[in-house]
Amino acid sequence: MKFHVLTLFPEMMRCCLSYGIMGRAAEKGLISLHAVDIRDYTQDRHGKVDDYPYGGGAGMLMQAQPVYDAYLAASGGRAVRTVYLTPQGERFTQQKARELSGEEELVLLCGHYEGIDERVLEDIVTDYISIGDYVLTGGELGAAVMMDAIARLVPGVLGNENSAQEESFFNDLLEYPQYSRPEVWRGKAVPEVLLSGDHNRIAAWRLEQARERTALRRPDLYGVYQAKQLAIKQLSADKRNSIHMMESLKRGRGEIIYTSLWSGGEDIVLYDREAGVCMLAAENPEKGKNMAGIVPEAARLVLTAQPFLEDILTERGYRLFLRCRQVLYTQKSPLPVRHREIRRLSLEDFEEVRLCCAAGGEGPGGAHDGCGGQCEEPGGTFDRLGGPGVDEAYLRKRLQAGALYGAFFQGRLAGIAGIHEEGALGLLHVAQECRRCGIGASLEAYVINRMLEKGWTPYGHVEEGNEASMKLQEKLGLYVASKTFLWMEKKLANEADV
Ligand code: SAM
Repeated sequence: MKFHVLTLFPEMMRCCLSYGIMGRAAEKGLISLHAVDIRDYTQDRHGKVDDYPYGGGAGMLMQAQPVYDAYLAASGGRAVRTVYLTPQGERFTQQKARELSGEEELVLLCGHYEGIDERVLEDIVTDYISIGDYVLTGGELGAAVMMDAIARLVPGVLGNENSAQEESFFNDLLEYPQYSRPEVWRGKAVPEVLLSGDHNRIAAWRLEQARERTALRRPDLYGVYQAKQLAIKQLSADKRNSIHMMESLKRGRGEIIYTSLWSGGEDIVLYDREAGVCMLAAENPEKGKNMAGIVPEAARLVLTAQPFLEDILTERGYRLFLRCRQVLYTQKSPLPVRHREIRRLSLEDFEEVRLCCAAGGEGPGGAHDGCGGQCEEPGGTFDRLGGPGVDEAYLRKRLQAGALYGAFFQGRLAGIAGIHEEGALGLLHVAQECRRCGIGASLEAYVINRMLEKGWTPYGHVEEGNEASMKLQEKLGLYVASKTFLWMEKKLANEADV
């Protein structure tokens, strides 16, 4: 991930990437900093970048021209997400850090004096972010805070892949207390359970401690946690049809925008802000109409299992792009993985991934020449990754997030599978010539095992009519939900109705 920081003090920014975890991540090339000195772009003979504000008032203002030219130098004309650090922005949170960690590059604009001429902000800024309700003298400390919080979520930056998942704010709870050697310090002993070696007991103790601590120190956060737990409990009455929402809540992704669950109803509108995915369940068309009205404007995709919502959502500018069955793996034991050469992919593999997907054509099965016809498993696309329609930007994002895995055959990428932005298992695609060799089954099993390690219940969506993929799900031991699910996609503003 590349940070371009537009600043009057580039040295101050360079320090941030010189030490500790950030320093090592920069050395490994996982993150990089391009500190752009705004003063280098002023056209003023004396190197001035500020002037008096029109209409009078205290202090000076940074002028539009040097900021704009510094931005052009940083972005190189690409549409890069550009954050202005300002006390007037949306409060920076762990969720925002997670969202921004999915970008390949980011521009951070640091103001000084009384701020920056509004006209340039209107032209270049995509996000206004504040690091807290107080006023700093400049944006650099804010940019440093943001870079640190974002960079540590970039795959590979933290040694242990799970550590960002267990700490404060993950799943609306603060982290549990931690202890290190010695076992007794100033008469205080480490809690006995932590020495027991019993991982289940330790996990239960830590969860209880996290709950207590959150209730005590952050009752606001604890309220959100409790509401989600209650919703998960209610939804579990129909687990197969609700696992997508239960997992979204459990994994700390979905926000409840509206629900009647707590008063015995069945309506819920859940929004995964980071993925732009809204999950909707409504008791009847009348309620569905009202709930469709509160789907956030920014929701790119809506997932629902109520057929009557198709027409309602179509009226609101969405169109159906996938009719599917929801499948879920409810066992705790990992699946056997026959194919040995499977690994997590990174952005460096993008070209190979693109070629593998583009060459594969559509649907499961097809010609193959690798196994002498002895294998039985189907391969091929099973959900939103359609052969010729592969969304390259989306693939890049999943690679960047470390959520895509690849199976190799004779040194070449033979297939991929991974985890979608909102958490569903999927993206399965096996190159045409490698199908029916069990690679699809191995890849899916591999991803399921990774999800089990995180304590998740793996679920996914299989396009209706894809019998080969349904057979694969059955073979791997996944259950099929009774309802038909609809994925609706927001139409582009200039798109004609079909
Ligand atoms: N006059 C501005 C106002 O009232 O909104 C405050 C300007 S402040 C003195 C100067 C710069 O510090 C801002 O342009 C911004 O880049 C940065 N800054 C100050 N407080 C910040 C905060 N809470 N979060 C992020 N950036 C902040």
